Amino acid sequence: MPGLYLHIPFCRQACTYCDFHFSTSKDRTVVLDTMELELIRRSKEVGDGRVSTIYFGGGTPSLLEPGRIAAFIQQAHDLFRVERDAEVTLEANPDDITAERLAAWKAGGITRISLGTQSFRDDRLKWMARAHDAQHALASIGLIAKAGFASWTIDLIYGLPEMTLAEWDEQLTIALDHGMPHLSAYCLTVEAKTALAHQVKKGSVHMPEDDAQSAQFDRLMERMDAAGLDHYEISNFGKTGHYSRHNTSYWEGVPYVGIGPSAHSFDGTTRRWNVANNAGYAKALQEGSTYWESETLSPAQRTNERLMTGLRTAKGVELARLEVDALRINSSAFQRHVSNGSMHVAEGRLVLSRAGRHFADRIASDLFVTDDDR
Ligand code: SF4
Repeated sequence: MPGLYLHIPFCRQACTYCDFHFSTSKDRTVVLDTMELELIRRSKEVGDGRVSTIYFGGGTPSLLEPGRIAAFIQQAHDLFRVERDAEVTLEANPDDITAERLAAWKAGGITRISLGTQSFRDDRLKWMARAHDAQHALASIGLIAKAGFASWTIDLIYGLPEMTLAEWDEQLTIALDHGMPHLSAYCLTVEAKTALAHQVKKGSVHMPEDDAQSAQFDRLMERMDAAGLDHYEISNFGKTGHYSRHNTSYWEGVPYVGIGPSAHSFDGTTRRWNVANNAGYAKALQEGSTYWESETLSPAQRTNERLMTGLRTAKGVELARLEVDALRINSSAFQRHVSNGSMHVAEGRLVLSRAGRHFADRIASDLFVTDDDR
C-alpha cells in the first residue's frame, strides 16, 4: 500500500470548470474528525502498512490550519510504516500562501507543494472564479521557491476560450522565469454539471476548436523540452528528481488507500470509492455502516486501465504485464496506430510518439479488450 491519499473536501468558492467533490461550508470539524476515524479503520485493513507517498488533495487542503495537516501526518506515522524519505504533497491555492504557513507545513512534514496557479492573468482567473489574482499567483511562487521544500509544482490551464498561442507562450514564459522544477498543464475540458457546462450550453461561452488546443499542446511540449523538463506524463513535466512519485504510482497501477469523502482506493484488483457527500460520509462512518461502493476488476478491465493510464506516460505500457494480450487481440487497431506513427514498441513496452500524445485516450480505447478476448 505505498500511496495514501487524503481528500480535503472544502473550498473557499466554486471554480467555474470544477467537478471535484467539495463543499464551501466553514463547518469542517466533523468531517475532518471522521477522516481521522477512517484512517484508524483503514490502517487495520491494509497489508504491510508501508507508505511511501502521502498526498493531500481536494478540495483545498491549504484552507486547513497547518496544525491540522501536521496532525494527519503524525497520525499516518502512528498507524502506518511511513518511509523515512516519503514524498508528502500538499495541494495549495495561492491565496493561502504566506511565508509563515509554508514554514509550518514544512515543519509538519510536507515535502512538496502543488500550487493551483492556473493562470497569471487577472481576467482569466476572474473568469474561472478562482479565489486568487495574478499578484497572488506570482507572490506565492516566489515564496514557495525560497521555502526549501524538496520539490514543488504549479498547475496551469490552457485551451481556454479565445486563448491565442501568444497568450499561452506568455504564460509559459512567466512560469519558466520562476524556475519551477515541475509543471502540470491541463487542457480545459467541459465537465457535466459545472458552471462552465451551463455557460457553454446557453451559448455565453464558446469552447475553442481542437486545432487551437492542439497547437497549444505542441507549444507546451516544445517549451518544456527546451527548458529541460521531461514530458513524463501527458499533463506532467518535471526535472530529474522532481517527478510526482505519488501520481506515478497511480499511473503504474500500484495500490493506494484514499481517505475522505469521494476518495478512491485500489488494492490491485478492487476499486473502492467513498460516498461523495460530506454529511453522508460522516454519518455512515460514525454509525459503522458502509460508506463506499466497490468494484472488482476483471482481467480485461485491469488490462484496459493499464492501457489507459500507462499509455499516458513516457515509459508506456509493459506488454508482458498485461493480463490480456492487447497486441494479438487488437491487431488491426494496433497496426493502424503503429503504421500511422502514433505509437511503437520499444524493449517490450508500448509507447506513444509525440504525435500520438495528442490522442492518448482515444488510442488506448481503440486497444481495449474484453474478457472474451482471453
Ligand atoms: S479550488 Fe480546486 S477543488 Fe476547489 S473548486 Fe477550485 S478547482 Fe475545484
